[in-house]
Formats: sequence, C-alpha cells, structure tokens
Amino acid sequence: MKITIIGAGIIGVSSAYFLAKSGYEVEVIDRQDGPGLETSFANAGMLTPSMSDPWNSPGIMGTLISSLIGGHSSIILSPKILPSIVGWGLSFLNQSRQKYFYNNLHRSAELCCYSMKVLAKLNDDLDINYQGYKTGSMKVFRDQSAMDKLAKLSEQLKDHGMTYQVLKSKELLKLEPSLKGAEHRLCGGVYFPDDQAGNAYQFTCEMEVKARNLGVSFHYGVSVNKMIREGEKITKIITSEGEVNSNMFILCTGSYSMPLARTASLNIPVRPAKGYSLTIPINGWKSGPRMPLIDDGSHLAITPLGDTIRIAGAAEFSGYDRQIKKNRIGKLYDLLDEIYPQFGPYLERDKVKEWSGLRPLTPDGSPYIGRTPIKNLYLNTGHGPLGWTMAAGSAKMLSNIIDGKKTILNENNYCLNRH
Ligand SMILES: Cc1cc2nc3c(=O)[nH]c(=O)nc-3n(C[C@H](O)[C@H](O)[C@H](O)COP(=O)(O)OP(=O)(O)OC[C@H]3O[C@@H](n4cnc5c(N)ncnc54)[C@H](O)[C@@H]3O)c2cc1C
Repeated sequence: MKITIIGAGIIGVSSAYFLAKSGYEVEVIDRQDGPGLETSFANAGMLTPSMSDPWNSPGIMGTLISSLIGGHSSIILSPKILPSIVGWGLSFLNQSRQKYFYNNLHRSAELCCYSMKVLAKLNDDLDINYQGYKTGSMKVFRDQSAMDKLAKLSEQLKDHGMTYQVLKSKELLKLEPSLKGAEHRLCGGVYFPDDQAGNAYQFTCEMEVKARNLGVSFHYGVSVNKMIREGEKITKIITSEGEVNSNMFILCTGSYSMPLARTASLNIPVRPAKGYSLTIPINGWKSGPRMPLIDDGSHLAITPLGDTIRIAGAAEFSGYDRQIKKNRIGKLYDLLDEIYPQFGPYLERDKVKEWSGLRPLTPDGSPYIGRTPIKNLYLNTGHGPLGWTMAAGSAKMLSNIIDGKKTILNENNYCLNRH
C-alpha cells in the first residue's frame, strides 16, 4: 500500500520513518528544498513534558484583552486577524475553563511522556546525533505568587511519573552557575530533572536519512495546492508538479493544515501562533549555561545547543505573517542580558541568526493524530508549542493506528472529533 505524507517537518519525517518500518511504501512531499525548514527549523530545542499545561489556562481572557488594548501581555493578538479566528478563538477560550484545562493538561502530558519513551528507544536503536542532552530544565521566577502557582500545577505532573524540585533563589546558582549576576532579579525556580533538550532540525535531518534508508522517497520543492475528494475518499492531490495518486494521504502540514484540508471540505481547527528565536554563537563563553531555562514572567526560553545559545519565545496571533518584528527580537536580547549578564562581552550581534516560526495550535493544546471522516485521509498535526517533545510518540502512535495495532495511549483522545 502506498502512503503519501504531505509535510517534511519533524512530524512528517518521524511519521515516514515509523510507517516505513512497518513495511509501507511511503513518499513525502514538501514545498521546501529539504526537511524541517519551517516551524521545526529553529525552535527552542526543549524536550519538556514539564510544560504540558496548555497556554489557555483559566484567566487567559484577561491576557488577551490586555493585548488588544495595548497592554503588556505574553500573548499578542493582532486585531486585524480577529474576524478570521472568531470560531477558533471562542473554542480556545472555552477550553480554558477549569474543567477542561486539567483534562487538556493530562492529555498533553500523557503524550509528551510517551514520546520521551519512544525517543529513548529510537536512541537505543539508531545512531542519531542531534546534540541531545539530559540535564533537566529550570523555570525561574521573579514573582513568588507565580512560582507558588506553578509548584501547585506541577503536582498534576506527578500522575505521569514526573518529578520536580522547588528552589530558593540561592539554590538556583548551585544548579546553574551561569545565572551569577541575575540572582537579585529572581525569587526562585522550579527544576524538572526529567526534561531534556536537543536540536529539532538536526533530529529531523537525521531521521530523514534513516527513513530514506528504509525506502522512503522525498520530493522537495513540490507544493500541494488541492486535495480532490470524491465522497469519503481523497482520489488524488494536485501539486505544483502535477497530480499524485495514492492509497492513503497523511497531513503533516503543521500550521498550514487548515487551508489544505479545507480544499477537501474538512475543518481542522489549527491556527498559527508566531514565535521568534535567536541563535547566538557562545563565542568562547566558558561558564555558559548547561540546561534549558524558562523565564516565567516573559515566557521566554534559553537553551544551550552545541556551540550556540538558542533564545526563543513570544506568541503572536497574526495569521500566516512570518515577518520578524524588531521589538520582539529586542525583548529576546533584553532577557538574555537580564538572565545571563556575564554573557555581554561575548555577544556579537552580527553573528546572531534571527528566525520566526508558526506553531500549529489547536484550541485544547493537543494534536490531532489518526483518522478523519475521509476514509483514506489521516492526520498528524497541531502540536503547538510542543511538537519536538511530542514528535516521536505522535509518529509511532499514528503508525500503530494505521497498522490496526492497539495503541499505548487511547487514540480517541487525540482524534479530530474528540469533543
Ligand atoms: C519559537 C518556537 C519555539 C518552539 N520551541 C519548542 C520547544 O522548545 N520544544 C518543542 O517541543 N516544540 C517547540 N516548538 C514547537 C515545534 O517547533 C512545532 O510544534 C513543530 O516544529 C511542528 O512540526 P510540524 O512538522 O508539524 O510542522 P513544520 O515543521 O512546519 O512542518 C510542516 C511542513 O509542511 C510543509 N507544507 C505545509 N503546507 C504544504 C503544502 N501545501 N504543500 C507542501 N508542503 C507543505 C511545510 O513546508 C513544512 O515543511 C516551538 C515553536 C516555535 C515557533
């Protein structure tokens, strides 16, 4: 049976690998010139089940209103795009209600934890180099009440076998000495020893080679413009290079899943949430950071990756616009200076790589994996801010669903019509 995967980001490539391993004939189509060149390219690199709590926690309404009236807000909503996200936005708000929030958190945590196990097995079975490391991650706080709130929320993660440690301000330095000079800003932190990190783009490229070795063919520079649906089947897709027939199609198109699915009259509630990153050469800074660090107040993350530091964050609802805004980039530099003041002399701004990417966000924060009402169309999309963390597990789960095998997690929790 021939399976055509649309999208060669971290999700599409990982799915191709597992399906080829199960014996299917797999091809992957992507409009870019190689794997992982869109949202999977320069993300924060964190493998953090500890961050399973969805963005739309109770109280998100206030954050959004503040953004609309021009106040300081971690989530930025562009008034221009309001009309195009009304339906999705209401659903996003609805899912922030207490009774849904915890359910959404546990669904997401379950997938993240499963995914880390699948990733560990991949590392055992394959020789993959993605600058991975297992130091744990640290969330730091400037505000005691925010820290107490997170410590309380982290109790929920224990259900999934995760542990955490609350740290006082002076204990932070013992775990992360490079914070020297920033202690006075921080009231403490929470350390998650099970978290990991690594370069998602490098992982995608390595897995692409592993998938090729299993016989997967990759077709780059090919845009899929339309899916042709007849009744309950996709009969073919129309691409920039002509028509493609297949027995089965899988959408791994990240933030672009909604417009493509719409050509087959299918609604997939995934919307883009723009984020930014800076990749900064460490430039000889010998006492640099050793683990990913998240600044709770600004919702920004700083991750050491090889001989660079990746600083990432911001959540901007502004449609598909990937323009890099100077004020957002400026905030990333400000944070770097506040958290790692010792790095100042080593920073060479002309060597910094700026990037923006669109997180594929669903209203409840978990991806859609598996069947659709169209019999030969499957999904693996909508991984939002956790696509690297969830990639291996989502791909393995999809392959099990297609194989008709029993999945470790309840597949109904990740299907398109779960609510
Ligand atoms: C700033 C930022 C920081 C992040 N940090 C983290 C982190 O630390 N940890 C974590 O777990 N996650 C993180 N994420 C999230 C993670 O990067 C994403 O969830 C993940 O990359 C999504 O992967 P994907 O394969 O679904 O999408 P993509 O990587 O975007 O892949 C989709 C592919 O589909 C192709 N495509 C789309 N439409 C078409 C079409 N019509 N025809 C042909 N090809 C098409 C695209 O070219 C693309 O290659 C972050 C994201 C951002 C933006």
